[in-house]
Amino acid sequence: MLLALGWWEKEPARKMKLPIYMDSHATTPCDPRVVEAMLPTFSEQFGNASSRNHVFGWQAEALIDKAREQVAALIHCRPDEIIFTSGATESDNLALKGTAHLYAPPRRAIVTCATEHRAVLDSCRRLEREGFPLTLLPVGRDGLIRLADLAAAIGTDTILVSIMAANNEVGVVQPVREIGQLCKEKGVFFHCDAVQALSCERLDVQELGIDLLSISAHKMYGPKGVGALYVRRHNPRVRLEPLLNGGGHERGLRSGTLNVPGIVGLGQAAELAAAERDADAARMRVLRDRLLERILTGAPEAIVHGSMERRLPNNLNVSFPGLASAALMAAMPGVAIGAGAACASATLEPSHVLRAMGVSPALAEGSLRFGLHRFTTVEEVDYVAAEVIRAATRLGLTPADAPVQDYECSA
Ligand SMILES: *Cc1c(COP(=O)(O)O)cnc(C)c1O
Repeated sequence: MLLALGWWEKEPARKMKLPIYMDSHATTPCDPRVVEAMLPTFSEQFGNASSRNHVFGWQAEALIDKAREQVAALIHCRPDEIIFTSGATESDNLALKGTAHLYAPPRRAIVTCATEHRAVLDSCRRLEREGFPLTLLPVGRDGLIRLADLAAAIGTDTILVSIMAANNEVGVVQPVREIGQLCKEKGVFFHCDAVQALSCERLDVQELGIDLLSISAHKMYGPKGVGALYVRRHNPRVRLEPLLNGGGHERGLRSGTLNVPGIVGLGQAAELAAAERDADAARMRVLRDRLLERILTGAPEAIVHGSMERRLPNNLNVSFPGLASAALMAAMPGVAIGAGAACASATLEPSHVLRAMGVSPALAEGSLRFGLHRFTTVEEVDYVAAEVIRAATRLGLTPADAPVQDYECSA
């Protein structure tokens, strides 16, 4: 394979493995320390945390208690305010449908934003079909909401505002503190999908006035299929109608035998995030800025989407005018990144996030999303930058002839 003949091949100690994974907003690699913490829960400590009659159950319960403390410490809440779920999709559904169903009537209106994750948007649309009034806030070119729009959208019948901390496509960071303050003043609950922010930023639910917060383990170096919802219990207390009924686990808010291995992994990932997030962020920022600088030097036509000032340190989202992301990605098989077009669907539908930011369909369809992670190296960044420039230059020579429809992309 041609790509394997890079200069690093001559130096085995720094040998780089291809393809390079730079799609962290889709999922992060599981940290080996997380895997290590999980392993005993499959074999020796396999008990059901609800078994009250023997040591296997008590052991599992102790593991769950520890994980609950680790997650609570990450966002500065009490352990009994953490509800374990199957991931942030469930957490978002529970936060939105749970409050909407419990408090209506009389308060039933929901305010969210056009660039939210599908787990939030589709839950909101479902509620809208059930008769819950919905306001979708617009965003500017920078990807950020305007606080005046939010203030105007909150009415006397509003129960919940749901705005994400950081966007999963363009990485822009919403003014969470100001949103929390506004929600407090207006007396409405504030749900924040913090999935993307937690691996890079300190989030304190007390300081930020957050009442509900969604967490996903696999976006912060933990395992897939497990997450959590923070539900404020005091000042104000948030009540929810559960999505799942059954054995009454998690204070009746989420029935179902607890996923002990996953929850232990989430707990370990949360503890590592609290300890290493700042150092990770500083390192990733340097690497991300290097990636951008190299791309702009080699391909000055590149257009960056979203604010660079208010942005996660590990995100970059760029388009090359006239070039489709599918063709670009097919031209660089050694690079695993995300694209602005939803390749999973039969039709290449341009990203709803970029469209809401006012990016043209053609440009949105050409967007490339880079997501750096804890283990990204400078060699990887330099390789990716060189490949992007090489692919864009090659395709740029004959953009009209690029056989976009012949390529397939996964997920
Ligand atoms: C990945 C993601 C989700 C969904 O999380 P899962 O745990 O995969 O269900 C929700 N919101 C955002 C912002 C995400 O990036």
